[in-house]
Amino acid sequence: MNSWVKVRCAHCRGRLQVPSHDVLLTVHTSQSWRDTFRFVCPLCHEENAPAATAEDVTLLVSAGVRVERVAIPDEVEDPTRTSGQAVTWDDVLDFAAAATRTEHLAREAAPWRSVK
Ligand SMILES: [Zn+2]
Repeated sequence: MNSWVKVRCAHCRGRLQVPSHDVLLTVHTSQSWRDTFRFVCPLCHEENAPAATAEDVTLLVSAGVRVERVAIPDEVEDPTRTSGQAVTWDDVLDFAAAATRTEHLAREAAPWRSVK
């Protein structure tokens, strides 16, 4: 038997019910990441991804929605692993330029071959 979930579309403001199998709940292993539930509005066809409170998570799980569990690695939230500096456009351009240089990869993959 299919369950229904009451939702409100943030785009068209429609208050409606969607089948539980059309809702995806995303929960994170870290409390500092926002849990969400996603659905496509059957009226305006826009995707919604509102935040899910702890109560929402309980209700959605009991309704039988699909659940995606996302493991957040500890190092993501370790302040000692980041410089604290924002990434700049120069950093992005340096990365893009470095990514186009593949000679060293070819040399490491086949060191017996001569690569210019
Ligand atoms: Zn809508």
